[in-house]
Amino acid sequence: MLQTRRSFLMSFLSSAALPVLGSGPAGAQGFPQRLTLTPHCDDADELTLAQNEGPFFKLNAPLCHDLATDVRGGKRITIAGLVINKHCRPIPGSLLEIWHADDLGRYDDVGFRFRGHQQADDKGRWWFNTIVPAAYPGRTRHYHFKVQRPGGRLLTTQLYFPGEPLNQRDSLFDHRLLLHVTAASDGSAGRYDFVV
Ligand code: FE
Repeated sequence: MLQTRRSFLMSFLSSAALPVLGSGPAGAQGFPQRLTLTPHCDDADELTLAQNEGPFFKLNAPLCHDLATDVRGGKRITIAGLVINKHCRPIPGSLLEIWHADDLGRYDDVGFRFRGHQQADDKGRWWFNTIVPAAYPGRTRHYHFKVQRPGGRLLTTQLYFPGEPLNQRDSLFDHRLLLHVTAASDGSAGRYDFVV
């Protein structure tokens, strides 16, 4: 039986939430119930790849975890992960900001739909409940993110979905920025750990 998005999130928040780096780009292992430190995590990990901001960033997005509470369309997804440093240590209090297109590939330039920010919790964990964005001309499905550890440099990047035909045709796509996505009974769940 598939887990729900809520049970995915609860298991993430109640577990030690160890980094899942090194499980490989097409990992598709999704979200293991029990996570162990990978060999990669014993070494200095690579910083998360930076990508451009694109034309749709907007300042002053609200503080929130739920981006789709008043939204009808779109497939629901809960995305979650850690902010860690190169030595796999979680970085509490890191700032995360997300913005993404809706289920028709449009950005909200008037209001703040599908835009939000939050601080990683005391274990470096972050999560958003939202929808799977649609692709739009020239771009495969993606989320935009900004991530900044306290006092650190600001990382601007994008996250992608596995198995998308358009990935191969989007020159920005990079397999190192793939979410690990699993099906849930009420949508899907994705995991990504940022290294900053
Ligand atoms: Fe975009």
